[in-house]
Amino acid sequence: MKIARSIPSLDCALAPARRARRTVVLVPTMGALHEGHASLVRLARCRAGPRGLVVVSIFVNPTQFNQRSDFTRYPRTLTADAALCRKAGADLVFAPSAAAMYPPPFTTWINEEVLSLPLCGARRPGHFRGVCTVVLKLFNLVRPTEAVFGLKDYQQAMVLRRMVRDLNVPVRVVCAPTVRERDGLAMSSRNRRLSAKGRRLAALLNGALVFARWSFLRGERQPARLLGQARRLLRVPGLRVEYLDLVRPEDLCPSLRAARGDTLALAAWVEGVRLIDNVRL
Ligand code: AMP
Repeated sequence: MKIARSIPSLDCALAPARRARRTVVLVPTMGALHEGHASLVRLARCRAGPRGLVVVSIFVNPTQFNQRSDFTRYPRTLTADAALCRKAGADLVFAPSAAAMYPPPFTTWINEEVLSLPLCGARRPGHFRGVCTVVLKLFNLVRPTEAVFGLKDYQQAMVLRRMVRDLNVPVRVVCAPTVRERDGLAMSSRNRRLSAKGRRLAALLNGALVFARWSFLRGERQPARLLGQARRLLRVPGLRVEYLDLVRPEDLCPSLRAARGDTLALAAWVEGVRLIDNVRL
């Protein structure tokens, strides 16, 4: 497995695969990789086949953070990340610098204007602009056949799918299920910033979503009741819910009557760490 730290070395590493017209599958990440990311790399490996090329990008993208402290505190663990990528079947890691990705003056941005407005978009101004811009840049640099994203970041996957469709980007977006800890907590690079107590509180997030889904399966169709039940479970000291919504798949707007395919989406703060999770009804 190769590691390219610059755009010219990425081009060099990709040249043989491009000449041979091999399938290229990209897994974009911000590093601090865990088993959730490994599952995406393994899926990419399966989709690329033995002759295809699996590329993992590792880039803590400054333009998608709306708090400087969150960006500076984001864990950076390139050596361990490279080992995980190799083990999961990647052929190439692309880990560029911020200066290479955003050479000044940088003045062109991608804005998706419907799906990126609610949920995280409403609380993190500019977040999806940063995500769309960096992902389109990665697509242009790597020129993958397919790219794999996790449904843990449900809104992100929907926004990127829309961007690809709207702009005729020749990349197939593949979505992968959320990988969880044994107690249901969605794996996240941010979990490692939690104390043992915070970690126990964080497990309530998925518990509340699963409880609401169970209630839906038992026949409850009123969004307010489903969300109220989940909210009550999350009313504990040390945990602050930022949003908890039931949204429709077509526009991510609040569902008026709970239906199959709707998604319960949640963001909450524990010990200064922002965690997100979702489950589909
Ligand atoms: P990140 O490094 O957090 O930007 O995530 C990179 C990719 O990994 C995104 O497509 C995420 O949705 C995906 N991802 C993160 N955590 C998980 C998880 N627990 N299960 C599945 N995919 C995940």
